[in-house]
Amino acid sequence: MPELPEVEGVVESLRPFVIDQTIVAVHVSDQVRKSHIEGKQAIIKGATPEDFQNAMVGYRITSLIRRSKYMFFDLMNEKGAAVLVGHLGMTGAWFPVHSLDEITETKFRNHVHVVFELSGGYLLVYSDIRRFGEMRLLNDISDHPPLLQMAPEPFAEEGLPHYLEMAQRTKYVNKPIKEFIMDGHVISGCGNIYATEALFRMRIHPSRKVGRISTARKIALYEAIVAVLRESIDRGGSSISDYRNVNGGAGSMQHFLQMYGKKTCPTCGTATKQKVIGGRTSTYCPTCQK
Ligand SMILES: [Zn+2]
Repeated sequence: MPELPEVEGVVESLRPFVIDQTIVAVHVSDQVRKSHIEGKQAIIKGATPEDFQNAMVGYRITSLIRRSKYMFFDLMNEKGAAVLVGHLGMTGAWFPVHSLDEITETKFRNHVHVVFELSGGYLLVYSDIRRFGEMRLLNDISDHPPLLQMAPEPFAEEGLPHYLEMAQRTKYVNKPIKEFIMDGHVISGCGNIYATEALFRMRIHPSRKVGRISTARKIALYEAIVAVLRESIDRGGSSISDYRNVNGGAGSMQHFLQMYGKKTCPTCGTATKQKVIGGRTSTYCPTCQK
């Protein structure tokens, strides 16, 4: 699943292709249309594919930013501003191309679900093998409450004070630390890969209770999360399974991960253990992490 660094990579590489482009047409796959008829609303949320197509045509994309694991395409037309909120789900990928043949990997080419024709001649293509991704057209972010409840960005100044404040709350004190740091109300965009890595760097056991960790260690852990996210952004993200950046390529952070997906601990050689915490499989070293 693409995490924060991967989404950042997608946004940065997509930006030059989409800024100041006007959407001249929108195409939606038969599979997505069929899912809407069946009441499942694949990919396009909060509107029928037809209403989505009609509403999107004529908008100019004024900016593209990442917020947590979401992509915000800011839009403008003669009636005013709007925002297209995108999420890559498990296997979403964006490709700016002149024709679909330019998408070299068959599995992505065969799962094209939404195509935006842009005024400059590019097709902005959204492909999604498993169709867990989302796009939602909103007049304003406040129209979709879950977006307002997200914690601050991990890189923002208010991120650390917010995290420390949440750590005091009764509902979190007895939670395992891994579940706590992966909670989007606590930190934005700390997914399984980077939570696993940061806990290993700090030698903290993923099941340790939030209230059993000193404030100093909690601060150091937060800093480790920020550091590992930044390193991954600098390396273009981790290429785990079906993540692709807009060039169809993938980042290199997976070569630098020390604990996620490892069978033995790189520090002490002990066999790693796995445990489900907060619904996600956590890998850790039973010797190094206490
Ligand atoms: Zn170890």
